[in-house]
Amino acid sequence: GARAPSAVPAISAPAVLPVRSGGEIRIANVSKSFGPLTVLDDVSLSLRAGSVTAIIGQSGSGKSTLLRAINHLERVDAGFIAIDGELIGYRQDGDTLYELKETDILARRVDVGMVFQSFNLFPHLTVIENIVEAPMTVRGLPRAQALAEARELLARVGLADKAESYPRQLSGGQQQRVAIARALALRPKVLLFDEPTSALDPELVGEVLDVIKELSLSGTTLVIVTHEIGFAREVADQVVFMEGGRILEQGPPARVLAAPDHPRTREFLAKVL
Ligand code: ADP
Ligand code: MG
Repeated sequence: GARAPSAVPAISAPAVLPVRSGGEIRIANVSKSFGPLTVLDDVSLSLRAGSVTAIIGQSGSGKSTLLRAINHLERVDAGFIAIDGELIGYRQDGDTLYELKETDILARRVDVGMVFQSFNLFPHLTVIENIVEAPMTVRGLPRAQALAEARELLARVGLADKAESYPRQLSGGQQQRVAIARALALRPKVLLFDEPTSALDPELVGEVLDVIKELSLSGTTLVIVTHEIGFAREVADQVVFMEGGRILEQGPPARVLAAPDHPRTREFLAKVL
């Protein structure tokens, strides 16, 4: 049935789960090709700890690949990415490769969470079991504490009453809010969103954007690939426009979205607005 777009209650109580400090991201001269296709072409970008960045650009411009590189799901060919000055994985300087030890790579992984367009919940697990799985296995939390934190996170995304439901019993918007709670359960410094509302029916988009907007005030560094230009204008500190694997323009939303310098940004915005 239809759901009110503002189904998410406002959060006023201080979070019991403190946000970890830090979350500064430095992307330096990152390039990546798939065979002959250059997907990231010398991308450099710095994101302040706690900032909110919206990445826009047409399909195929390299947005997902960039997010995947930040989350260590994609190995880049050149350059490096660091979070709070610590390399994620390795650094390729010409022919020289500096690589972290496997244990250090695993330790770094919890710094970055990711929310996908397609939710990616475990269908055979209840909502609460979806959320406690990673904190127990990755953070090593005792089950009781993981459950307590999961309930708090569910309340935070407005789904306290859905703990025992299965994903298939939820709307797309509710499933995406569970996916956000699950990502937060690892207490990441950085949370990446790859078109988090693109798979949702229009009437469910608002409830997910409301949760992300609330998170934007929390101090976690957020990077959001989105076609929701109005949302980007409202929530982002910085908007980045990508095309052909390059950053063509970046800056405050008031400027990039209202008075872009680059003609390609203007053309893109004319199409999506
Ligand atoms: P966006 O998210 O902006 O739509 P992507 O980062 O997903 O762009 O993709 C950029 C380009 O890289 C596209 O042309 C895509 O087809 C290509 N690409 C992405 N992943 C792979 C892959 N694993 N192998 C080959 N080509 C890929
Ligand atoms: Mg994409």
